[in-house]
Amino acid sequence: MDPNNFHIVAIDGGAAAGKSSTSRAISQRFHFMHVDTGSFYRAVTRKLLDADVDPKDSDAVTAGLDALALGTTLSDSTASITLNGWTPDDSIRSQIVNDNVSQFAAIPSLRAFLLDYQRSQVEVAKENGFRGLVMEGRDIGSVIFPDADLRLFLFADPEKRAQRRAKEGIADSIEKRDKLDSSRKTAPLQCPEGATFLDTSDLSLEEVVERVSELITEIAAAQ
Ligand code: C5P
Repeated sequence: MDPNNFHIVAIDGGAAAGKSSTSRAISQRFHFMHVDTGSFYRAVTRKLLDADVDPKDSDAVTAGLDALALGTTLSDSTASITLNGWTPDDSIRSQIVNDNVSQFAAIPSLRAFLLDYQRSQVEVAKENGFRGLVMEGRDIGSVIFPDADLRLFLFADPEKRAQRRAKEGIADSIEKRDKLDSSRKTAPLQCPEGATFLDTSDLSLEEVVERVSELITEIAAAQ
């Protein structure tokens, strides 16, 4: 891989499709900065819930977002969002956030609030000497980086995804979130045209990482 080339890998997919484990492993293997945009939506949801913002009240949502200053903190190779200096903790994975995040994430002004911030992570990665960026979410290959070097869409059947969450000991509203995320008007969850669709239902994490690594190596070699 040419060290002078900076690579962007977009990984989208439904809840518990294996995006985070795959992205982390890829970031380690290729020295790419890892960004989990789901944690951004979760962190903003946490803050708006704390401020008693009703997702249906657009003025309250706007006021709530105006009160949030965005920042970034880097821990190893993962970049995290900060909101008014607060670094998200485990509370962004709580049941109340799981139950509300998709409703907040469907609000166009909230998505617009995070749009440039997500794109600006390229600069953070470059400034910190990474050779690329692996960003996971729902609209990375469709909206945030439609020209990414590699756009992947990870799929896993619902039973396998429920098993993964159960193994992690997490109660999650996987199907409800996927339904809301897929049916919203702005940046719905979908496999973007031209992206690589990868069914991970019967693959181990190692097998998925191997397949994605091959794709990155092939693309980098062709550049
Ligand atoms: O990835 P994770 O499951 O943690 O994402 C939490 C929620 O954040 C998703 O269910 C979705 O509503 C929202 N999200 C989004 N766009 C992204 C990433 C996450 O709408 N790029």
